Amino acid sequence: MFYNEEFETLPREAIKALQVKRLQQVLQRVYHTVGYYKKAFDAAKIQPDEIKSLADLHKLPFTTRQALRDNYPFGLFAVPMSSIVRLHASSGTSGRSTVFGYTKHDVETWTDLMARCLVAAGLTKNDIIHNAFGYGLFTGGLGLHYGAEKIGASVIPMSGGNTKRQIMILQDFGPTTICCTPSYALHLAEQAKAMGIDVKSLKLRVGIFGAEPWSKAMSDEIEKIYGITALDIFGLSEVMGPGIAMECLEGRNGMHIFEDHFIVETIDPQTGKVLPEGSEGELVFTTLTKEAFPLIRYRSGDVSRLITEPCRCGRSHIKMERVLRRSDDMLIIRGVNVFPSQIEAILVDIEGLESHYQLIVDKAGALDSLELHVEVSEKIFSESGGVKELQNIEKRIVKDMKDYLGISPRVKLVEPNVLQRSGGGVGTKVIDKRRI
Ligand code: ADP
Ligand code: ZN
Repeated sequence: MFYNEEFETLPREAIKALQVKRLQQVLQRVYHTVGYYKKAFDAAKIQPDEIKSLADLHKLPFTTRQALRDNYPFGLFAVPMSSIVRLHASSGTSGRSTVFGYTKHDVETWTDLMARCLVAAGLTKNDIIHNAFGYGLFTGGLGLHYGAEKIGASVIPMSGGNTKRQIMILQDFGPTTICCTPSYALHLAEQAKAMGIDVKSLKLRVGIFGAEPWSKAMSDEIEKIYGITALDIFGLSEVMGPGIAMECLEGRNGMHIFEDHFIVETIDPQTGKVLPEGSEGELVFTTLTKEAFPLIRYRSGDVSRLITEPCRCGRSHIKMERVLRRSDDMLIIRGVNVFPSQIEAILVDIEGLESHYQLIVDKAGALDSLELHVEVSEKIFSESGGVKELQNIEKRIVKDMKDYLGISPRVKLVEPNVLQRSGGGVGTKVIDKRRI
């Protein structure tokens, strides 16, 4: 089943020709409308009209998350604010967050691509979709929602949290499809079991999971517990949101990347060198059709491998394997992206703290758990009335982490010079004990 058969099954040569044409258009547009790109291309001594084929792409400079932060909030938009109909943003304090804008046409494109994903999962207007991806500034919830309505399915805009209520709705509304992070799916099943409910008895047939790395083993486990087909969906807000790539029902190995809208390259994260298709490396995306927020050669930080063999579903678009790992220090905690630098930025602003901290990420049941150890200044520890002060600092850290980053660590304040410092690298600041 296809949503847009013509484009989803376009012969490879035609895809490449379309990509070149769209690439040339987008390059002209960003060069003339976004100061950042003009500067970047000029500095690299490359002009848009010198890009004549896909093989020329590597001559263009990469765009990094830092460029997005430097241009916070709207500096990389290629259209005036009056043309923007939607804004999404990552978590973080100002200057450490990133903002994504959409024109009306961008929302329509995104909706169509999400519709493609849902149809690739075998869904129709007869399906009821329980959408437990977060709504709000996060792209997951709304992205999926629009696609679900587009195919005429009945969508339940559940968002995250309220697990007991979710279980009640899963029982009462009888959705055929569930969408959420894979770890939340396992958590739901655990909680349901504790309530004496076997999730196999639900009407669910398909699950669409993403927003965090998960293994084939985890997928098998979810399929077994729920008695459903578990499909992988991939996306990142910078490039659009969910719906950049989707696993098809027939193929069951890797996710098709919608190449009429995105060009994907694989690079060596250390050297930035482009690797041959099929090598393991960091995925780099160029958007071809986005109006408000085009991105040229965006380094996703996601390490994977492209699959070029034709898929039995008939889609001609290249596939990517499951994301293997990150090439940077970004953590994904309960589906929320967090950088150690964002945590530092928050701690620096709180008086009485030393700059040393340690973040311990683990699993509590199916969900991620977080513990944050922070050193407090000698003064506070020795002062009378220090206990009260320590409590206040702890409360402030908890609140700021929740408000700015959307994470809720257990905070433990420790005396100065207690935390390990060897090398001072991130490895000592972040201890990730999770196994997926
Ligand atoms: P979302 O989490 O909705 O996809 P974000 O922009 O918040 O969007 O996060 C994007 C990041 O989430 C990606 O760069 C990737 O690291 C991770 N991610 C998204 N989907 C998947 C997936 N299916 N498998 C592994 N990681 C994923
Ligand atoms: Zn396929």
